[in-house]
Amino acid sequence: CGIVGYVGHRDAYPIIIKGLRRLEYRGYDSAGVALLDKNLKVYKKTGKVSDLEDFVKGLPMTGTIGMGHTRWATHGAPSDRNSHPHSSGDRKLTIIHNGIIENYGIIKETLLAKGHVFKSDTDTEVLIHLVEDILNETGVDLKEAVRIALNRVIGAYAIVIMSAEEPDLLIAARKGSPMVIGVGKGEYFVASDATPIVEYTKNVIYLNDNEIAYIQRNDLLIKNIDNTVQTPYIQELDLKL
Ligand code: GLU
Repeated sequence: CGIVGYVGHRDAYPIIIKGLRRLEYRGYDSAGVALLDKNLKVYKKTGKVSDLEDFVKGLPMTGTIGMGHTRWATHGAPSDRNSHPHSSGDRKLTIIHNGIIENYGIIKETLLAKGHVFKSDTDTEVLIHLVEDILNETGVDLKEAVRIALNRVIGAYAIVIMSAEEPDLLIAARKGSPMVIGVGKGEYFVASDATPIVEYTKNVIYLNDNEIAYIQRNDLLIKNIDNTVQTPYIQELDLKL
């Protein structure tokens, strides 16, 4: 339902929480956050963003790359384990997702047969396991694995993916669900609408359908899922909060 991500030089957690609060108007049943410094940390809870904050109170929420999600359940009842982010087994990949992966059932069957173990009932978790499966089987890098995976799914999505193996990379993509990138100095923001971003930068890029953004602290590359490089169109927001 709501997405916020950050990669840069500041602590990601406060930016993510504030952003999730700005997205609360959309309605949601659970909230979660993933942060990466030396390790990947994932915390998620049913209830309000404030319940998530209570849940992590006292924990070191460090990391200059991270992402947060508010969920509006479509596949799998609202519960802690169905909340986002979802992670896949060994590779320490993690995903947040707005929308619906319509062909998740058939993909899940194939992955179950290959020994994948699922921890939730969501369509979303299937997508991150598919990325892991492609990584394991083909030897391509994460960027390419996500692109290949997105070519195999049917449905609507705005997603952000992180990996503990790539601590300077957020991958964002959209099809049928909005996604905005905020362009700062040595930092980038992503969100499902501009409201979490405007206080940090007015320069934004609206991703188009079928585009994938590979976002690093000092680099941004946008490709179509057919692998053609796109020229990003940066526009200036005129929004006041
Ligand atoms: N289909 C996903 C789920 O049920 C994402 C829902 C959303 O957009 O929040 O977990």
